Amino acid sequence: MMVLSITDQHKPKCYLCQEMFDNMEALRKHQETTHKDFIEYHRKKHDYSPAPGDVTLF
Ligand SMILES: [Zn+2]
Repeated sequence: MMVLSITDQHKPKCYLCQEMFDNMEALRKHQETTHKDFIEYHRKKHDYSPAPGDVTLF
């Protein structure tokens, strides 16, 4: 099971501020800066999925 094809289907959107990005990398960087505290909190909570790249599935 792969979940890496999200960027080809639609632009990823930040579920925290509803801002859209060209790709998952841009979204990831946005969240790791703008929402740093929130992302780190969820990383510890969901330590089985260290990458915040699948946030659009929340
Ligand atoms: Zn955001």
